[in-house]
Amino acid sequence: CGIVGYLGHRDGLDVVLGGLRRLEYRGYDSAGVALPHSGRIEWRKRAGKIVNLEAAIAEAPLPPSTVAIGHTRWATHGAPTDENSHPHVAGRVAIVHNGIIENHEALRAELGGVEFTSQTDSEVAAHLLEREVAAGADLVTAVRAVAARLEGAFTLVAVDSADPDRIVAARRNSPLVVGVGEGEYFLASDVAAFIAYTRDAIELGQDQIVELTRDGVNVTGFDGGPAETTAFHVDWDLEA
Ligand code: GLU
Repeated sequence: CGIVGYLGHRDGLDVVLGGLRRLEYRGYDSAGVALPHSGRIEWRKRAGKIVNLEAAIAEAPLPPSTVAIGHTRWATHGAPTDENSHPHVAGRVAIVHNGIIENHEALRAELGGVEFTSQTDSEVAAHLLEREVAAGADLVTAVRAVAARLEGAFTLVAVDSADPDRIVAARRNSPLVVGVGEGEYFLASDVAAFIAYTRDAIELGQDQIVELTRDGVNVTGFDGGPAETTAFHVDWDLEA
């Protein structure tokens, strides 16, 4: 039910866990994080509260990374278990997803021999994405190809351990805002996740893809063309 992404100069895990805590009010049943490190995806995920995830990380610490994504889940397909928590990892890539992929059964059938590790609708997106990058697509092209295949509502956020300085997200009928700081960029379901760091934000439109890199933020439509976005400044304060 909540998504946070960070690319910048701070400890990504810290920023993402703090952001997920700011989104707790939305309700959730599981939480997880993923980060690219030394050519692999590292991740932890747990059913239950964020403290469960933090305990798992304390037990098996994650390597430092200035790029990270995180998720709080409100289960729609598959029980709230560790396995069904997000991220979903396939080969070099990891995804987190909010929403519902209506055609997940057809996509699962199409993926034939692939081994699934969860009962979620979301996991198909990880395998479809892995297929695209394995066939040579760059991450933004791969996310665009996958988004075009999904029916329903989604905010889909992806990282690729072979291209670690990039986060790509797609949205349809599900919220996503971008935070723009000095040499650091944020993605979240809600500005509350990042206003401790920046108040300059961009509201994405429908059917858009956003790419965060060290050079900034680039937004395009699902068709690859230019996209209309709305920049805004958050001038209200969070209640403690
Ligand atoms: N449909 C997905 C699941 O059940 C995502 C739910 C959410 O929005 O948190 O895992």
